[in-house]
Amino acid sequence: MIMERAFRRQVYKIREETAGGFVLSRALVALLAGLLIGLIVPALLLFIVYVLYTPQLPDPRVLEDYTPALVTKVISVDGELLAEFAGEKRIWVGIDEISPNIINAITATEDERFTGHWGIDSWGILRSIIVNIKSGRRAQGGSTITQQLTRSLFLTREKLFKRKIREGLTALKLEKSYSKDEILELFLNQQYLGKGCYGVEAASRFFFGKPADSVDVREAATIAGLLQAPSRYINNHEALKGRRNVVLGRMLANNMIEQAEHDSLCAESLYVNIDEEVSSWKAPYFVEHVRRYIERKYGDSYLYERGITIYTTMDWRHQQIADSFFNKKVDELERWQRKIHKDDDPIYTEMVYDSLSGDSIRQWKELQGALLSMVPATGEIRAMIGGRDFLKSQYNRAVQGGRQAGSAFKPFVYTAAIDNGWTTVDTLLDTPEVYPMENGELWRPQNYDHEYRGTITLREALRASRNVPTVKLCEAVGPQRVKWYAQQMGISTHMEPYLSISMGTSDVKLIDIVKAYSVFPNLGVKVEPIAVLKIIDRDGKVIEEAKPVKSEVLSPATAYVMTSMLQTVVDHGTGYPARLYGFDRPAGGKTGTTNDYSDAWFVGFTADLCCGVQIGYDDYSTPIGDNMTGARAALPIWSQYMMYSLDGTKVKDFEIPPGKVVFVDVCKESRKLATNQCENIVHEVFVAGTQPIDYCPPSFHTVGRTPTFGGKTDSEEKDRPELGGSRKPPRRTGGL
Ligand SMILES: [Zn+2]
Repeated sequence: MIMERAFRRQVYKIREETAGGFVLSRALVALLAGLLIGLIVPALLLFIVYVLYTPQLPDPRVLEDYTPALVTKVISVDGELLAEFAGEKRIWVGIDEISPNIINAITATEDERFTGHWGIDSWGILRSIIVNIKSGRRAQGGSTITQQLTRSLFLTREKLFKRKIREGLTALKLEKSYSKDEILELFLNQQYLGKGCYGVEAASRFFFGKPADSVDVREAATIAGLLQAPSRYINNHEALKGRRNVVLGRMLANNMIEQAEHDSLCAESLYVNIDEEVSSWKAPYFVEHVRRYIERKYGDSYLYERGITIYTTMDWRHQQIADSFFNKKVDELERWQRKIHKDDDPIYTEMVYDSLSGDSIRQWKELQGALLSMVPATGEIRAMIGGRDFLKSQYNRAVQGGRQAGSAFKPFVYTAAIDNGWTTVDTLLDTPEVYPMENGELWRPQNYDHEYRGTITLREALRASRNVPTVKLCEAVGPQRVKWYAQQMGISTHMEPYLSISMGTSDVKLIDIVKAYSVFPNLGVKVEPIAVLKIIDRDGKVIEEAKPVKSEVLSPATAYVMTSMLQTVVDHGTGYPARLYGFDRPAGGKTGTTNDYSDAWFVGFTADLCCGVQIGYDDYSTPIGDNMTGARAALPIWSQYMMYSLDGTKVKDFEIPPGKVVFVDVCKESRKLATNQCENIVHEVFVAGTQPIDYCPPSFHTVGRTPTFGGKTDSEEKDRPELGGSRKPPRRTGGL
């Protein structure tokens, strides 16, 4: 093995040097290759095949008896069977029971000289060597159907020379022992085509609901297209359609179809039916998330071959609660749009191609959204909604892409401040401000209510989600530093370190922001979200067991002070409607609303559970509706999910890090330690060492009173969970 590796390294080295552009050595390589092909290789092959390579090949018919009944199961944390991946599907058919369309499509794409060569395609190899030398790269292809069959039947996935030589030898042997038809029959019954299907009969029945002898050209081209990378293509219909059209191009080049037929088939939509498998899944976005994880880690067909049991973190009871409140709210928001807009409204409807009539028809856009909840301490994902309907759209909005978080991003600004010596009673100015931007224009950040409140504390500014003071705080702390904190806590998407970062203008993934908010109740520890707890093989052997991946990203004191500020948001601020729904546990959280109401967020947590909800049309420019803030569109789902899913569990307060924070009574007016002279006193928490040390001076309250902080009624506090109210034109401000 070591010798072989050293040899391989040498080979790679030579390749790289060749690629470096030494024309002379390329010519030399070409000459040597020519000699090798012309003389040495055939002689060597013949010698080894006839003298050394004596073992008999197995009878291909043994495959007929191959009927494994291995089923992979996906189980929720509360014992529910979420999905089954039925074991390998193999249905042996003779070559005469396979449509010529399939044979044409596959030979045209994989091995156009199949009927002419003797196991290896010397012309194909020669051509790939020439391409190799010309381009300085390793050329693709050159593997015949016989070689591919050899690989899947007899050989392990060794790399490069050793495999290539053994593959070539075995292919020659196969060709000598079997007829072309027999080899093709074996190949068409053996190859993996995705979703556990081996061979064209199983694939035709599974994907098209018909036997392999009645598959049409379009379907045959789809099957041939799957061969190259079955799992990748079957889960990406756009890519599969492209690959299908490549196959149709090969068929045209080999005179198997006419130009007109080629053109019309290429224009046709892709039809592959995997609904039967998927429609039986519970929590399909989550199951697909798990499936992708297994595929990335263990390879394409692992789920179907091994008969493993996957114990996941999903709580089926949680998921059902999440589904029911999510669907109810999103349906309601959609119904509202359909009531107030005409059914040809250019904003809320779109033209789509209707495959039944072949015409374009106008239909309502679908309001989308996502929900993700996890246990902060362990990262275990308890519920996941990636969109409205998995069969219609497999795009998982909980873990893919990203959307502007609006004010749900603000806690990162305040975290950066608190971690750098600011306190909750430090003040900011809620007054108009103008900032020059890089493009020379001027930026005037606005508050949601277009009012200014003068001097305001940090706690109050976050509670009421004031934009202008938050921008000023961001300026004081530094947008670069705000970005650094957001990244540390788990935001993985690109962020521009400009002042506008404080208004949540960067795209954020739901899973990232839920992970980042979990740092608060975790007292500064970030935990990576996980979906799989344990994988067990069919003999009961543990293949994998999850260990939480944790890292301390904030001081416990900062995390606790932030938790306390975000509790104020839920108890008395923009998150207050949660209390109107009857959710009364200690909780922190933040609303988010973007420009023109295109995105609504709520992300919040208790000591045991952190959940984020995002609502919005896939098309960024369509508003959810006038005044549809995070508090109105996302918070109702969050509140009800949290309330019902935690029902019956112990009510927990947030952990206070001993010795790291101090509580003192502060005079609301002087923001110094309260005395018996003070009337407005607040019990405030500080990172130890940052609390005020001076007492409120006796003269302070006798010289005339200054206005107190807080206590003002906020317009957003009047938010009620039900829809309706006066319709105002959308305002181009974020906030809330
Ligand atoms: Zn005082």
